[in-house]
Amino acid sequence: MSDTIFTKIIAGEIPCHRVYEDELVLAFLDIGPLATGHTLVIPKEAAKTLDELSGESAAAIGRVLPGISRAVMHATGASSYNILQNNGADAHQEVMHVHFHVIPRFKDKQAGAGLGIIWKTQEINHDDASELAKKIRDQLS
Ligand code: AMP
Repeated sequence: MSDTIFTKIIAGEIPCHRVYEDELVLAFLDIGPLATGHTLVIPKEAAKTLDELSGESAAAIGRVLPGISRAVMHATGASSYNILQNNGADAHQEVMHVHFHVIPRFKDKQAGAGLGIIWKTQEINHDDASELAKKIRDQLS
């Protein structure tokens, strides 16, 4: 995988506002925050998307994500938060190194910024769904 800006942050070659670090994980404030306290949690492993990440790094992130979310909530006084994790250009991923966004949400929205979510559902077709669920199960076995 080619280097990204996050590789340089992990190596300490460019600065960041670090909030957490261990052997496998680094967390720092997003440089273009959608809200105050917008934090990125990344594996040190240079995987592009979540499906390419090792179980070890995924587990390490899973272990610390609740605590980091809690700390961001308490430090900012946010009332809620979103965890956003983009994989691939069509999913809005810009930095091709796995990262989890912790995006605080506030009762009184901060003017001029924020995360917008369009959630347009479609009707499920149960016959297709049954077939698709089997296909996914087969991939997992
Ligand atoms: P994504 O669209 O999911 O790939 O998001 C990439 C995120 O990385 C964006 O929210 C950027 O603001 C953030 N970002 C890019 N460069 C830096 C940097 N040097 N320090 C902190 N955050 C960054």
